[in-house]
Amino acid sequence: MDFNTRLLHDRFAPDKTTGATLTPIYQVSAFARESAEELERVFNNKSPGFAYTRISNPTVSAFEERINALEKGLGAVACSSGMAAVSMALMNILRAGDEVIASSGLFGGTIDLFGDLGEFGITTRFTKSATPEEIEPLINEKTKVIFAELIGNPGLEVIDIAAVSELAHSNGVPLILDSTTATPYLVNPIEFGADIVIHSSSKYINGSGNSISGIIVDSGNFKWDYEKYPGLAEYKKYGKLAYLAKLRNGIWRNIGGCLAPMNAFMNCVGLETLGLRMERCCKNALELARFFEDSREVEVNYPALESSGFHELCKRQLKGSGGAIITIRAGSRERAFKLINALKLATNATNIGDVRTLVIHPASTIYAHSSEEQKRSAGVFEDTIRVSVGIEDIEDLIDDFDRAIKSL
Ligand SMILES: *Cc1c(COP(=O)(O)O)cnc(C)c1O
Repeated sequence: MDFNTRLLHDRFAPDKTTGATLTPIYQVSAFARESAEELERVFNNKSPGFAYTRISNPTVSAFEERINALEKGLGAVACSSGMAAVSMALMNILRAGDEVIASSGLFGGTIDLFGDLGEFGITTRFTKSATPEEIEPLINEKTKVIFAELIGNPGLEVIDIAAVSELAHSNGVPLILDSTTATPYLVNPIEFGADIVIHSSSKYINGSGNSISGIIVDSGNFKWDYEKYPGLAEYKKYGKLAYLAKLRNGIWRNIGGCLAPMNAFMNCVGLETLGLRMERCCKNALELARFFEDSREVEVNYPALESSGFHELCKRQLKGSGGAIITIRAGSRERAFKLINALKLATNATNIGDVRTLVIHPASTIYAHSSEEQKRSAGVFEDTIRVSVGIEDIEDLIDDFDRAIKSL
């Protein structure tokens, strides 16, 4: 099956008892069992089934299954937000004294999270770019995770997954990759060697900007050394499922960052058009980026442009696409504000992956409390505008930006 067919049919069939064509919203907190013995079995993972929605729920499970199938993983765990997914994927294996290596071109919330983890004794060492050359010198015996974003938001650096995962594995460390901006439509990071893949499904997977959620997919491929990751030792008996078993029975369930059934349902609906939407918004992004490239008034950054250093990597790894996010530099903060204010179609909002084209001035919003150095290394300047390209007709989008740029 190809991508769009898999979206609709892979590991998904109409409900067995009712014939419902989508898994309905099981909007309940608890699931009753006939006998005490049966509930005991469900509680102790001895028998399949549901007990309490913080632990599992049929609508949420349907969403997890579908994303896991798309990412070709071993299993997936859905979370209340993308940040919950990033937090719990890391906290599942980290403890005080450990170190993480991460690229600095990350989503603002993730950079802040690494600061929070510092309070718990977990140190993050940042590289400018997520390249093997920059990561290798920072690896030591305390390094437990290499973390990166596939297409950094908003820096738009593309990571060479095969090269970085090879370096990680030769040092006995997993590569955790946030693939939010690429989506399974452009790449399955697991096929290139990533061990754990995270999505903020609030973005492209949901697609219409109507629910906050996140998901963690484990490949099951990483060979955990139980002395290096002592927290996992208790789950050794689960073999390849050790990471997922610990997550489900430990930090994820105990922090309580579960996904609400209603939001899981909205994601399942949105997911079915992921291929169509990505095809359209990535095509729009390339055309809009070319329009910006021809303009003398702004400077454009889009990884799939022939002029970008990431063009080859986009071809090799992202089916020739560069995703649907563009950044432009307008020359000054004043000009950036003026441009944003002159747009009629593109909406000024802090989100990406909506069907609508969205713009934002990151320096004064998402990165308002970041240091100058953090902003610079994330590719955020005083005149930067981030554009999350939607599925509108490209002629209308270009007209909108053309008019706004001329107003400068
Ligand atoms: C939005 C985003 C997140 C955080 O997701 P939320 O659902 O907002 O918590 C993490 N990583 C990336 C790349 C994002 O764009």
